[in-house]
Amino acid sequence: MAGTIRLGRLFGFEINVHWSWFFVFFLVTATFATSLLEGLYPEWTVSRRWIVGGAIALIFFVSILLHELSHSIVAKRYGIAVTSITLFVFGGVSNLEKEPESARQEFLIAIVGPLTSLAIAALFTAGYFLLREADDGVGAVSGNLALINLAIGVFNLMPGFPLDGGRVLRSVFWAQRRNLLDATRAASNLGQLVAYIIMGAGVLGFIFGDFITGIWLFLIGNFLRSASAASYEQLFMNIVLKGVPASTVARTDFTAVSPDMSLAALVEEHILAGDGRCYAVVAGDQLLGLVTLTDLKKVPREQWPSTTVFRAMTPFDKLRTVSLRDDLPRVLAQMASGDINQVPLLEGSILRGLIHRGDVMRYIQMRQEIGTVATS
Ligand SMILES: [Zn+2]
Repeated sequence: MAGTIRLGRLFGFEINVHWSWFFVFFLVTATFATSLLEGLYPEWTVSRRWIVGGAIALIFFVSILLHELSHSIVAKRYGIAVTSITLFVFGGVSNLEKEPESARQEFLIAIVGPLTSLAIAALFTAGYFLLREADDGVGAVSGNLALINLAIGVFNLMPGFPLDGGRVLRSVFWAQRRNLLDATRAASNLGQLVAYIIMGAGVLGFIFGDFITGIWLFLIGNFLRSASAASYEQLFMNIVLKGVPASTVARTDFTAVSPDMSLAALVEEHILAGDGRCYAVVAGDQLLGLVTLTDLKKVPREQWPSTTVFRAMTPFDKLRTVSLRDDLPRVLAQMASGDINQVPLLEGSILRGLIHRGDVMRYIQMRQEIGTVATS
């Protein structure tokens, strides 16, 4: 993930923090230093309140770390390697190297995190009841840490995928439908619904109530919405498109033109005749380049009769191409990195077909509609 700093290793897991965590750390420290500690210890110096506030923030940090570690330890027990644990503004993310193998595994890996937070909350609650009589403020601090951990546990139990609650829900769908992709789609849709409700509450809060809380709710909702949508898309790409050969969607009925054809002839004979926007320029079956409407428009109209296709085309060495061995995720990656809508399918330098973005999208849509593929 971008914007993360490596802290070190713990129990064999790499621990990272996202930069946003430093902001949270400061916010938690400041909140304790300026409100709770000021009320409890009016005789303390300001710097002492900030130091103790920082120590409380550190305990908060450790609480979230324990939550994430619990996920990772259970995942590891099922043989799923955890590449890293990243702590960021809303908690943490354990990066599992692969998806769990069964609904049961997923359920246990997901539920252990919130349970850990709730257990920590219970410990601090016990601390609150044991120490509140002592009247030295430690009980009150303990009570606040209990509330924070309770909030972490409850927030993560929200049924929005990819939060823990959403994963729990996905494991239930998975057990019912015996299909991971279907279950992920259902959990992702519900996650997006929950996200819109949170964003809506944020907008209402922004207008009618607390400005800051409104903004926070909106940001959290928006984060959840994009994470939910991305989680399904990514799994879909991995499960459905992986290994599907690029040739599946390649058109072999593309129009090839010879390099010495003039642009005027190209317009007259092909473009106006409705042969499309993109033409392969070939000599024999060797691909020399592609000429598209975009290339054509770069040449002034009065030069069309005197300019050859060869001079106007995007030459072979500047093209992004795929080979017969490549699969659809590779095709999409090539289109995305070049911001282009078609890639030639090659065998060596011999043109075997043209792949249009629209055809890939139609394929994806069709697979989505057909739905159930044997993935469970
Ligand atoms: Zn969690």
